[in-house]
Amino acid sequence: MEKKYQKLKARLQEINDLNSANSLLNWDMSTYMPPGGAPARGRQQATIGRIAHEKFTDKKIGKLLDKLTPWAEKLPYDSEAASLLRVTRRSYDQSVKVPAKLIAALSEHSTVTYQVWAQARPANDFAKVRPYLEKTLDYSREIANYFPGYDHIADPLIDFADQGMKAETIRTVFAELREQLVPLVQAITAQEPADDSCLHQSFPEDEQLAFGYQIAQDYGYDTNRGRQDKTHHPFMTKFSLGDVRITTRTKENDLSEALFSTLHETGHALYEQGIDMSLEATPLAGGTSAGVHESQSRLWENLVGRSRGFWEHYYPKLQAAFPSQLNEVPLDTFYRAINKVQRSLIRTDADEVTYNLHVMIRFDLELALLEGALEVKDLPEAWHARYQSDLGIQAPSDVDGVLQDVHWYGGIIGGAFQGYTLGNIMSALFYNQALKAHPEIPDQVRQGQFGTLHTWLKDNIYHPGSKFTANELIERVTGGPLTIDPYIAYLKQKFGELYTL
Ligand code: ZN
Repeated sequence: MEKKYQKLKARLQEINDLNSANSLLNWDMSTYMPPGGAPARGRQQATIGRIAHEKFTDKKIGKLLDKLTPWAEKLPYDSEAASLLRVTRRSYDQSVKVPAKLIAALSEHSTVTYQVWAQARPANDFAKVRPYLEKTLDYSREIANYFPGYDHIADPLIDFADQGMKAETIRTVFAELREQLVPLVQAITAQEPADDSCLHQSFPEDEQLAFGYQIAQDYGYDTNRGRQDKTHHPFMTKFSLGDVRITTRTKENDLSEALFSTLHETGHALYEQGIDMSLEATPLAGGTSAGVHESQSRLWENLVGRSRGFWEHYYPKLQAAFPSQLNEVPLDTFYRAINKVQRSLIRTDADEVTYNLHVMIRFDLELALLEGALEVKDLPEAWHARYQSDLGIQAPSDVDGVLQDVHWYGGIIGGAFQGYTLGNIMSALFYNQALKAHPEIPDQVRQGQFGTLHTWLKDNIYHPGSKFTANELIERVTGGPLTIDPYIAYLKQKFGELYTL
């Protein structure tokens, strides 16, 4: 059995290498590739992706999994072999159940839909992209139906990104959260808005990049196993556990843009860099779900990076980097500016308090579409109605409404959004647990020291890679199920002080 296990690992390593090569091509495309490289690059990535998919869905892998599963199930649940078999079995089933023909047709459809959306959005022309979106909905339902036995048709699609999570559980958790957030937003926005003009001066790009990258390293980002480059839409990517990269973008007149996106991507990167090296090149060498990954980016970006204690240490340094812009701006003004809460239309620009309302609107609309309770033709109206009821604001057009996010126009409908809010909820859940183990963490953050927190996260969250699902990880780390309580307590405490609620 041990021999067969090594055989399986060798095959999986080959597939991992192909996928890593593809990630490198993608990183290059998003950073340094000249525009002329685009057509060939698309083809090259598709070729490698196809070969990797063929290798992974090879019947020999299926046979190895069948033979090894009974053996692995007798091993300890958290052992490498038992975990690798569980995780590989899950993704193998996902890959072989949906016919390759359907995947190819969807991929072609997505490429076209994306192009139509890219034109429809600036033209505020939802009607143009509507038939494509209707087809996407058909495809999404078709894919879900290759996984019969679900409770909700969205479950299989949610499972792709947040394995083990179900529509009904998420719906219940989100409803609780919404009940708390809507009045919180109302109470805050009834007050004088924070003045964030200090963030909108002229800030030279090089200083911005250097400042953010220094904090990344202070957090514990290992530059021997990573680097930072510029891009249009910031992301983190990994080619091996020894090469985990972040990207960022600057806006000359918006200090928060590069700064907080760097801290966000650093959180994702710390997760990947913190995975047990012995898992290298296996399917376990990655973050476990979209939600848990986002919990780490949010933890370092918001719970640490937008806290008052953090800026007690870093604000004098920021002033030294930008003396003419910030020397006259007191810490409190700056702190209020980076935590400004407002009713807004754009999800990606939203603050900590309103952000989840944007996500929940999309999640509920996805479910309604998949259920058949909502038709694509009525989507723009449904979107506006929810923004009115939840955020008390209405977009003047579909550009900042239903045409806003790329997700539905470049993939499937279902499973794309819940991870953002699950991540926020989990960020507080995990941070709270770290504080219980080490009450000294806030004092250390106040001194620009993150070692205790980073080590706790490595030991408890990062090290196991994707051995456990999000729910299993939460249970192991907190001893209970997913709960919004620490997250709500965090928001009420922080914004209660900022806004005297
Ligand atoms: Zn993220």
